[in-house]
Amino acid sequence: VYNLEQDHALRARAQTAFPNGVYGHQNSALLSPEHPQFFSRAEGCRLWDVDGNEYIDFMCGYGTNLLGYRHPKVDEAARRQQGVIDCATGPSPLMVELAETFNELVAHADWTLFAKNGTDATTICIMTARAQTGKNTILVADGAYHGASPWCTPAPGGVAPGDRQHQLTYEYNNVESLTAAVAEAGDDLAAIVVSPFKHDVFVDQEWPTAEFAAAARALCDQKDAALVLDDVRCALRFTMGATWETLDVLPDLCAMSKSVANGYALAVVTGNDKFRHGASQIYTTGSFWFAGVSFAASLATIAAVAEEGAIEAMKVAGDLLRDGLDQQARSYGFQLRQTGPVQMPLMLMEDDPNWEKNIFFCSQAAQHGVYLHPWHNMFVCAAHTESDIRAALERTDAAFAALKKKFG
Ligand code: PMP
Repeated sequence: VYNLEQDHALRARAQTAFPNGVYGHQNSALLSPEHPQFFSRAEGCRLWDVDGNEYIDFMCGYGTNLLGYRHPKVDEAARRQQGVIDCATGPSPLMVELAETFNELVAHADWTLFAKNGTDATTICIMTARAQTGKNTILVADGAYHGASPWCTPAPGGVAPGDRQHQLTYEYNNVESLTAAVAEAGDDLAAIVVSPFKHDVFVDQEWPTAEFAAAARALCDQKDAALVLDDVRCALRFTMGATWETLDVLPDLCAMSKSVANGYALAVVTGNDKFRHGASQIYTTGSFWFAGVSFAASLATIAAVAEEGAIEAMKVAGDLLRDGLDQQARSYGFQLRQTGPVQMPLMLMEDDPNWEKNIFFCSQAAQHGVYLHPWHNMFVCAAHTESDIRAALERTDAAFAALKKKFG
């Protein structure tokens, strides 16, 4: 029988230990009461919560798990480095090797910078664009997430109005809206920030049209501004370079993180020579940014992605999951809206304006051992085999049955 006793005890302690429980995107209070908050073990595509319940996990650490949790080769490389040198007075040679690897892999990259979090990387891109162009205004898409610093955090708490100065918004995939925002920026446009595809919470995902991507590139060229790709969530899931390479559109600056070291803390900024001087003028650093373990893990991750055909494996798993869920939903009389690429699926339901059905469905799925998210895009990883997806679908069948019983 499903129970979350230990989980609830920990949640009660967390409520006092932290200002208001677990904060940020991993706060399970935003999901259903049956979504566990605390986990004690992870392997491959599976998680075990503190009460011992097992889940086939489709959140993959919100994207940090690319090859499978505790990937043997990545963990071995990290352990080896840990035994020699990690965080010290200066970096290990691996830092140069990894930068050269990114400069080689990423089509637009002439140089690379490393940091720890996605927010570091997107912030560095914006500082670089401003330092290079001597201009201030940046354009971001309405509803897009670029991190949790005052300039980009989605909640108003603690943000001074000045922190958001010099920012205009446009509608993703809407060339007219982008063009209007560029016009509004006048002669002050430093950067257009784009997500590789629209992957906002609560709404259908959208792959960019060729027209939109081309317009973003052309407008940046016309205005001598930086095209900044926020690839934090998508890097290494579609191609070994920047995700817009699949559209033949190269950004000037690209922010990556999450998956690039398969769960070890690393963020990456890549840039072209046009922005080298700007990047050399900003002061950016962090106590843990030069640590060797993450560099070793990233080198091993990049090697494993290629060796194991990880990008193709995620596509295969994602296709199976999408088709399976679709068929299952229809057989129970429900219609799903599964949008975006299959490797990063978002599953919403028709006739479900408050996500009530979906939250109930995902809560049932959790109780049957599948971790799904009702309004954030999910992730498949390269460790999701065909048999894992089939096992997951057996479990979601029970969740659809419960949904039918409750909602008819
Ligand atoms: N950009 C995007 C597209 C993201 O998905 C995230 C993280 N969810 C960030 C930036 C910020 O990354 P981090 O939480 O590591 O600072």
